[in-house]
This record gives sequence, C-alpha cells and structure tokens, in this order.
Amino acid sequence: MSILVTGGAGYIGSHTVRALESRGQEVVVLDSLEKGHRQAVPNSPLVEGDLGDASLLDTVFRDFSVNAVVHFAAHSLVGESVKRPDIYFKNNVGCLFTLLDTMRNHSVDRLVFSSTAAVYGEPKEIPIPECHPKTPENPYGESKLFAETILRRHSEAFGLRYIALRYFNAAGADPAGGIGEDHTPESHLIPLVLQTLLGQRPHIEIFGTDYPTPDGTCIRDYVHVNDLSDAHILSLDALSAGAPSTAYNLGNGRGFSVREVIHAAEKVTQQTVPVLSGQRRPGDPAILVASSEKIQEELRWKPKFPDLAAIIETAWDWHRSHPNGFRSQEAKHGKGGPRS
Ligand code: UDP
Repeated sequence: MSILVTGGAGYIGSHTVRALESRGQEVVVLDSLEKGHRQAVPNSPLVEGDLGDASLLDTVFRDFSVNAVVHFAAHSLVGESVKRPDIYFKNNVGCLFTLLDTMRNHSVDRLVFSSTAAVYGEPKEIPIPECHPKTPENPYGESKLFAETILRRHSEAFGLRYIALRYFNAAGADPAGGIGEDHTPESHLIPLVLQTLLGQRPHIEIFGTDYPTPDGTCIRDYVHVNDLSDAHILSLDALSAGAPSTAYNLGNGRGFSVREVIHAAEKVTQQTVPVLSGQRRPGDPAILVASSEKIQEELRWKPKFPDLAAIIETAWDWHRSHPNGFRSQEAKHGKGGPRS
C-alpha cells in the first residue's frame, strides 16, 4: 500500500515525502517535473506525468496500491495567477476532478490537500481563524477556494474524507540537508534575499512601501517547511483514525514585514542586502497572519521552528550549499543527481 504524493518533487512535497519515508511509509510520487526536481525525490518511485492524465492516474493507483493521497500538484504564484487565470483554474481546479474520479474508482477516500492563506483575501481580523470570510484577491486563492468547495461537496456526496491545510508563507529547508527551495524563476522573498546575499542578484526589490502597516511593507506569517510536512503526517493519521473532513491554518501566529525579513536575513548572515523600493505587486493583501489554534488543539501540531531567524538559518544553509539549487547537485554528481 502506498501513499500517492502529487507534486512530491516540489518544495513542500519533497519535504513531506521525506517525512513519510522516515516513518517507513511506502510512497509514490506523481509530478510533471515542470516545476519539481527529480533530485528532490531520491528514494521513492517517481512517475513523471500530468495530473489531468486519467489513464496514467488509473495505472498509478493500480500498480502502487494507492490507499491515500497527499495532493500538492498545483500552480502557486499569486502574481502569475493574475496574468494567467486560465492556467490556474485549469490546473488547480480542472485536474482535481481527474484525481477525485480516480480515487472514487479505486475506493480511496483519504486526501490531504494543499490549500493557502490566499483563500481569505484582505483580512478583517488578525490573526485569521479558519472561519474568517473567504474573499480571495487573486485567481490563485480563488482556485484553491473552488477546490476546497469541490472537496466539501464530494465529502458530503461520496464519503471522501479530506483535510485542507491552508499554508501561510512556507520557508526554510530540512536541516538534514539535500532538499530545499528551488523555483525557476524564483519569486519568493526569502530565497530572493538569500540569492542577493550570495551575489546572484544585484538587489532585492520591496513590492510596495505604502501599505497600511507600521513600516509600509507587507506583513506575512512565515512557517518552516518541516512544520508543514509534520502537519501532513498528523492529518493523514487523523483521517486514518476516522477524523471528519475539515480545514486547518498553518502558520506561527506572528507576522513579519518585508523589511523585518530582510533585517533578519542580514542578522543571520552578517551581511547587508542592497534594497530598492518598488511598486505593489497586484493581488497582495497587506497583512496575512494565521491563527493555527485549531490544528494545535485538534491534532496537537506544534511548530518546531517558531522563530524567523531559525527558519532563515535553515534556508541559508540550503542556499549556501546549493547556490544553483538542485543543479548544484548535478554539477557534483552528474546530470540527474546522485541516484537517478
Ligand atoms: N516580496 C517583495 N519582493 C520580492 C518578493 C516578494 O517585496 O522580490 C514581498 C511580497 O510582496 C509579499 C512578501 O514579500 O508581501 C512575501 O512574498 P512571497 O512571494 O515570498 O510569498 P506570497 O506572500 O506571495 O505567498
């Protein structure tokens, strides 16, 4: 029996695959490798393919005796989603039906779903609880909210049991090494700051300095990727024990402005980052900070990296040892990485 991890060669996916493997769980990864990296999954079987490919999914479920699914595969960039809503709705919503149909055909009823703080839109209260109104400001958040609605209706009609995990800002890397954040092009704040510190970029541009926040820059709640992967394991365990379908926020409950993140990175690395002030990025709410009390109470989730500096340190270790991301490993071990 295997757990299918869609998008398991991506950033949060590969950390969750590693966490599952360390519990002795059999895993099969399905990833298009459009954004994921083969080297991020050195141990479990990796099937390269598209989530919308019904016959491939059917084969994977049969060949690997899939009995639960952790579904990461999605497009996940706010800015890109504003420019290409078509791709976001097709991929994040359309392909979900292929997965749910296949699960039903194979009598698989447990699903952990990657959702996002972007489902809330501009917050009306901080920290944001799960019951907060959902008025996403961009197609990415909207696509995830549609997906959650589809899951809820499938749960009511067909007995699907799911847990949707609404991540705030994923950051850091597994301190055990070998995997970390590697997007092309990179668009996330912490990797961009660290790449600037490594001399790979001339400066970091702050997207908006006129937000209604104390220093005028956006505030986000950064949560370590290993704490996210822990939450997936707890969710799978809860579903196995018969827990009902629900959604949980995942964040540390503390917000940091863009300027505070830059200063924290400067402190960790003992270097100065060249900074430019730029325009707001469309679709960005001013403040997003999670209340994660619900998952802390119900599943006993407790972040192991509640401190921003500790999160940045793990990211810095990854970026320093892999200045070109997974391509750094190719250079060391030949194309395809150590085990491919
Ligand atoms: N940000 C920025 N400059 C950059 C990249 C990001 O000022 O080059 C800001 C962005 O506007 C947001 C915060 O940093 O307020 C975190 O952005 P990121 O893309 O890392 O994550 P998101 O909040 O979009 O999930």
